[in-house]
Amino acid sequence: MDISEKISALKTEKGVTILAHYYTPLGVHKIADRIGDSLGLSKIAKNEVDTDYILFAGVLFMAETASVLNPAKTILSPDKSAGCPLANFLSGDDIEKYKIQYPDIPVVVYVNTTAETKAHTDICCTSSNAIKISQKIAEEHNTDTILFGPDKNLASYVRDRTDLKVISIPGLGNCPRHNLFTKMDVVNAKNTHPNAILLVHPEAPPEVQQMADYIGSTSGMLNYVHEHENDAGYIIGTEIGLMDHLIWKNPSKKFFPLNPKSLCENMKKITLEKIYTTLKSIGTPEEEQFQVKVPSHIAQKALLSIEKMIDYS
Ligand code: SF4
Repeated sequence: MDISEKISALKTEKGVTILAHYYTPLGVHKIADRIGDSLGLSKIAKNEVDTDYILFAGVLFMAETASVLNPAKTILSPDKSAGCPLANFLSGDDIEKYKIQYPDIPVVVYVNTTAETKAHTDICCTSSNAIKISQKIAEEHNTDTILFGPDKNLASYVRDRTDLKVISIPGLGNCPRHNLFTKMDVVNAKNTHPNAILLVHPEAPPEVQQMADYIGSTSGMLNYVHEHENDAGYIIGTEIGLMDHLIWKNPSKKFFPLNPKSLCENMKKITLEKIYTTLKSIGTPEEEQFQVKVPSHIAQKALLSIEKMIDYS
């Protein structure tokens, strides 16, 4: 048996559901029970998992979200050092300081934050629902202003498409893998692949978004490619892992990276070998090192923010 076959056998034997984010390595997609983006996986973790264990193939904040939504289940992370530089831009203490500076203004944060950060917010959002969530929470608070963090580019995306005054917290927060895209990348890609459609994630800088044919989440990009034929192909402006997934699922279509350096090292820490080791640990003293637990006083508050997002989506 190769490692993928061993993982499949072990996850059935141990009763584990494997959820994988699109940015993990392609081999991980192939052994996962479900693949998705942040919102999709959150909903699956909450409503559609009937095993006692969830192995979350993604960065740590995603496993935390699964734990917050499923306190009765055991959540496992194959590598708890897989963090997110974007999430590190904003802590709960930071938010409390902004609340003093901007009293009575609702706080919206991207799901790419720690549970501790979420616990200090009014609501979370993803790149797919950021506009809708921002409008709804502002309406609920009877205001035209929101605090939005930690991604300055997603904040700008919301600001440009609503009548809201969107205050970015902190001002410079960004995902280094999406913020590296430049106008020159677009010019070069379009010159090399004329007539290819440019799809860009809202975590990319606004000047790059403005040159895109389509702006959307990873799931949005997948749907777009599925629904739109284009013989000249598609230029993909998000983390490189989505390209691998698109090629796998659409072998007859052509895909080109906007910038091949957009590779999230943290997502790539989740390897088949580590997943196998994690599964093998279940029921042994080693299991605990892979368990993701969020302290209940934080989890209860973070849950309100996440559930509100799911309800409003
Ligand atoms: S791609 Fe960016 S936002 Fe996503 S996990 Fe990596 S660093 Fe964080």
